[in-house]
Amino acid sequence: MLTTNQEKTMDTLSARTKVGVQDCVLLEDYKSMQAFVDNLQKRFREDLIYTYIGPVLISVNPYRTLNIYNDRIVALYQNVGFYEVPPHIYAIANTAYRSIVTEFRDQCVLISGESGAGKTEATKKILHYIAASCPHTVKVDQVKKRLLQSNPILEAFGNAKTTRNDNSSRFGKYMDIQFSIKGHPVGGHILNYLLEKSRIVNQTTGERNFHIFYQLLASGDRKLLDHLRLHKDPNSYAILCKGQCISVNTIDDAAEFGEMRKAMEICEIKESDQMELFTVVAAVMHLGNMKFASERGGSADVMNKVPVEIVSQLLGCKEEKLLRGLLNRTIDVRGEKVVTPLTKEQAIHARDALAKGIYDRLFSWLVKRINDSLGAKEDEEVKPVMGLLDIYGFEVFLHNSFEQFCINYCNEKLQQLFITLTLKSEQDEYINEGIEWEPVQFFNNKIICDLIDAKPVGIMAILDEECLRPGDATDFTFLEKLADTFGTHPHFVCHATAEYQIRRTLKQDEFRILHYAGDVTYKLRGFMDKNNDLLFRNLKEVISESKNRVSSDCFPKEEICADNKKRPVTAGSQFRTSLAELMDILMSKQPCYVRCIKPNNNKRAYTFDERLVRHQVTYLGLLENVRLRRAGFAYRRPYEVFFRRYKCLSKETWPVFHGTARHGTQLLVKYLPMKEDDFRLGETKIFIRLPETLFAIEDVLQE
Ligand code: ATP
Ligand code: MG
Repeated sequence: MLTTNQEKTMDTLSARTKVGVQDCVLLEDYKSMQAFVDNLQKRFREDLIYTYIGPVLISVNPYRTLNIYNDRIVALYQNVGFYEVPPHIYAIANTAYRSIVTEFRDQCVLISGESGAGKTEATKKILHYIAASCPHTVKVDQVKKRLLQSNPILEAFGNAKTTRNDNSSRFGKYMDIQFSIKGHPVGGHILNYLLEKSRIVNQTTGERNFHIFYQLLASGDRKLLDHLRLHKDPNSYAILCKGQCISVNTIDDAAEFGEMRKAMEICEIKESDQMELFTVVAAVMHLGNMKFASERGGSADVMNKVPVEIVSQLLGCKEEKLLRGLLNRTIDVRGEKVVTPLTKEQAIHARDALAKGIYDRLFSWLVKRINDSLGAKEDEEVKPVMGLLDIYGFEVFLHNSFEQFCINYCNEKLQQLFITLTLKSEQDEYINEGIEWEPVQFFNNKIICDLIDAKPVGIMAILDEECLRPGDATDFTFLEKLADTFGTHPHFVCHATAEYQIRRTLKQDEFRILHYAGDVTYKLRGFMDKNNDLLFRNLKEVISESKNRVSSDCFPKEEICADNKKRPVTAGSQFRTSLAELMDILMSKQPCYVRCIKPNNNKRAYTFDERLVRHQVTYLGLLENVRLRRAGFAYRRPYEVFFRRYKCLSKETWPVFHGTARHGTQLLVKYLPMKEDDFRLGETKIFIRLPETLFAIEDVLQE
C-alpha cells in the first residue's frame, strides 16, 4: 500500500510519464526505428531516462545527476508490482529481490551496452536499492558495506580513463549477492573476466593507465612514496604517460585514493597487505622505466640499472636473476637447460609481458581477497542469490584486435543466452499452456558462436593449434588455416576467399566476422602473441621467489613446477572456459535485462545524438525484442492471482464463487473490457496480449 506522500510522488512521476510511452510495446508503429528512437528522445528530454520493453529496462545515460535515486524513491518501489510504478532501475531490483524473498528463486540481472552507457552505474544503483531495502542488523550492515565498498577498490585497479568514459571498467564483472532465507544479504562473490592488461604498457592518446597508479602518486603520502622510491610526478614513469593524459578534470585522484583505502579497511585488507600491494604497483611502474640497448652481436643489455635495482629491492628478489631473466630465455631441451640471449625487441617484450603478468595476477589476487571478506558464513542454510553482470558491450573500433575478438565473442554468447532464455522459454510456455503460437522469426546466432568456439574446428581452436604448433606458425599461417576452413562460411570473410566486391574492402592481414550485431574487421597482427600470452618461465620463477607476499602468492611455486609438463593454457581457451562457466551460472537463474544506451559521444548532458542511439538500438536488438513481445502475450497471470484480484468485477463470481479459479476466470472475462483476440486462456494462466488491456481492467477495478 502506498502512503499519501508516496501517492503524491507517484502522481508527479506519472504525470511526467505521459511523455511518449513508458513501454515500447505500446508504440503504435512498433516496427519503426524512427518511432522507437523518437520515443526515447522525447522521454530523455524530460529526464525520463528509463523505458521498458515488457520486462526489459532501457536506460539512457543522462550524464548528469538526476534526483531520482534517494530513499524516498526507494520506498516508492518497495512492495509494489512492476507495472504499477514508472520504469526505473529500482523496479528491476525490486522484482528480482521479491522473487528471491518470496520464491527463493536465483535471479540474475544482465546489464549490457557500450562503453560509457551506464552499466557500472546501474549495478551500483541496484546494490544501493538492495542495501536500502534490507533490514538493519549488525551482520547485514557489515555485508552491505562490503558489497558496496568492493566497488572503489576494483575501480581503482580495474578502471581507467578512456576517450569514451572517464571511469571505464576494463574488466568484466559478475557479482553474486547471497541472501539468507529471510532475504537478508549474507555474503557475495565476484568473478572477474579478462582485464585489459595491454593498457599496463600502452595507452592510446587521451587515455590513461589504471587509476591506481595516478592515485598512489597523488596520495600526498610522502613517507609511503619514499618507501616505494616513487616521485610524485607521473611524467617520471613511462607507462603512465603513453596517452599524454595525466590529469582528468572529472577525477580527483588524491580523494579517490583516500576513499579506496577506507574501502580496503572495510573489506578487511590489512594495512600490511595494502603496503605489499602498493609495493607491487610501484614495482610495475619502475619496471616500465627499464630501457634496453642493442649490443654488438644483436643481444640486449639494460641501459639503466637503477630501475632493475629498485624493482628487485621492492619485490625482494635477486637482482642478478631478474636481469638474467629479462635478457635471456632459458628452455629445457631434453633435461638440459639451454640459455639464449634475447634481442632488444625481445627483451622489451619480456619486460612488458612481466609487467602485464604481474598486474593481471595482482588484480585477480585482489578479487580473491575481496571475496574472502564477502564470503557467506557456512551456517547459513539455503542461499538464493542475485547475480549482477556488468560486462563489456560489443566493440567496433577502427582497428580491432584479439581483445575485441574476445569481447565480441562474449557478446555473441550473451545474445545466445538471451535467445535461449527469453525466446525459447517464451515459446515453451505457449506450448505447455496449450496456446496457439505463431513462431516469430528471429536470427539465431548459434552459427556465429560455433564459428568461434566449436571444437575441433572453430576460430579459437585453430588459433590454439597454431599457437602450440612448433616451427613456423605465424599470424598469417593462422589466417590461411581460417581461409581453408571457413572460406564459404556465411559469417566469415577474408581476402583470400571473398568475392571481388567485398575483397576490395579488406586488407590481406584482416578477416571479418559478420556478428549478430554487425560486421567487424579484425587486424591479424598480434593474435598469436596475445593468445600465447607467454611469460618466460625464468621470469615467473624470479617473482615466485619474491619476499613480497602478494607477488609470490600471485606466482605460486607449484604452478611453475607444473609448467613443464602441461601444455600451456592459451588466453583464448582460458576465456572460453570461463565464459562457458558463466553461461552455466546464468542459465540456472531467472534473468532480467538492463540495456544501457549512450546518448552522445561527448559525455554531455541534454544531448541526444539520434544517429548514435539508432546504431545502439540496432545492435542491442531492441526492435526485435519489441516485435517478439508484440507477437506474443505481454502479460501472464496464474488463474489464482488473476481471479483473486478481479473476481469482484462480475456478478457471477462475486460475492461467492465455489468453483476453481480457472473456471471463475472463464466466467469473469465476459465482464472485462477485452475483445476475444486480446487474451487466451491457457492450462494454468490467463494470457493478455497488450498492457493497455490490463490497464483498462485496473481502471474498472479502481472505479
Ligand atoms: P564501461 O563499459 O566503459 O565501463 P559503463 O557502461 O560502465 O562503461 P558507466 O561508468 O556506468 O559506464 O557510466 C559512465 C558515466 O556516465 C558515469 O561515470 C556517470 O558520469 C555517467 N552516468 C551513467 N549512468 C548515470 C546515471 N544513471 N545518472 C547520472 N549519470 C550517469
Ligand atoms: Mg563500467
